[in-house]
Amino acid sequence: MSQRPYNFAAGPAVLPEDVLRQVAAEMLDWHGSGMSVMEMSHRGKEFISIADTAQRDLRELLRVPDNFRTLFMQGGGLGENAFVPLNLSRGGKVDVVLTGSWSRKSAGEARRYADVHVAADAADSGRIPEHWDLRPDAAYVHVCTNETIDGLEFHELPVVPNDVPLVIDCSSHVLSRPIDWSRVGLAFAGAQKNLGPAGLTLVFVRDDLLGHALDICPAAFNYETVAKADSMFNTPPTFAIYVAGLVFQWLKRFEYQGLKGLAAIEQRNIDKAKLLYGAIDASSLYVNRVHPSCRSRMNVPFFLKDERLNDGFLAEAKAAGLLQLKGHKSVGGMRASIYNAMSMEGVQALVAFLKDFEARHG
Ligand SMILES: *Cc1c(COP(=O)(O)O)cnc(C)c1O
Repeated sequence: MSQRPYNFAAGPAVLPEDVLRQVAAEMLDWHGSGMSVMEMSHRGKEFISIADTAQRDLRELLRVPDNFRTLFMQGGGLGENAFVPLNLSRGGKVDVVLTGSWSRKSAGEARRYADVHVAADAADSGRIPEHWDLRPDAAYVHVCTNETIDGLEFHELPVVPNDVPLVIDCSSHVLSRPIDWSRVGLAFAGAQKNLGPAGLTLVFVRDDLLGHALDICPAAFNYETVAKADSMFNTPPTFAIYVAGLVFQWLKRFEYQGLKGLAAIEQRNIDKAKLLYGAIDASSLYVNRVHPSCRSRMNVPFFLKDERLNDGFLAEAKAAGLLQLKGHKSVGGMRASIYNAMSMEGVQALVAFLKDFEARHG
């Protein structure tokens, strides 16, 4: 079979080819059950085994401590922007740090339920602000640890004073690196960026944060209710959980430079990002405006210094087998998302194309 093009979409995004092949092979008959996973009862023993294995593998990969619950939800990142304040704010104070489009969206939604205070704002500085004006009596502090559109990533999680819980939206870099759980109260992530198909949303929540939901919180999005029902309060996104589970198994067996699992994928992510940023910085046609200390390993926005070349760039890239490089409409330019499933060869092909295009048009 011919080589598939390289897909740099921001999400829904590239999945490991091995996983797609396995899904195809199991589509009509999962493990001799005579059923597609899509056709199974979520309460039957077959699907329960799929969900349990996925949950166990995910917790193992991320070394999730015992005092955190893992929830398989629906609603996406934007849903969580409401569910988090509904569950955690107690109608009180919420501090947010703005580093780009997604944290701004989260703050806007939280304002419907809580007294939201902007503790720091990166504005157009291209870097994570250093000084944060936090309130000691906030119910939680919200940050987006990887800004998918703007390309800013926290390479270390902040220590929030006064035991105020930290909430992280890690949608676009979850499972690309470890998480320091000692600094986190709740983490959420939509699956469609770095770990599976759209429809599944992961929530990791510390036990002590359960049980404080506002009365108006819908039962299906009350973390305590979902946790008590083992994410089966209502029908979970079964097929998305199945595919994400296969991605977890792929990650567990992933090897790179003598490393295995999450450590291996993290090292490859570091190497891929270094190669791509290096090529952008070395060129006189392309520019990335994020400060090197907080450049994302997953989403690399870049601009052509002559914007008139944009359409030609995208057309030639597509013809060269490099798909979905167009930047988000709110910022323009280009964006290469180089998630876990993007191979080193894919990034090498992109870098070769960047150089070739510059040689012809620069
Ligand atoms: C994509 C994204 C979201 C929104 O996810 P939806 O599933 O579309 O609701 C939220 N936060 C971040 C960081 C994202 O990348």
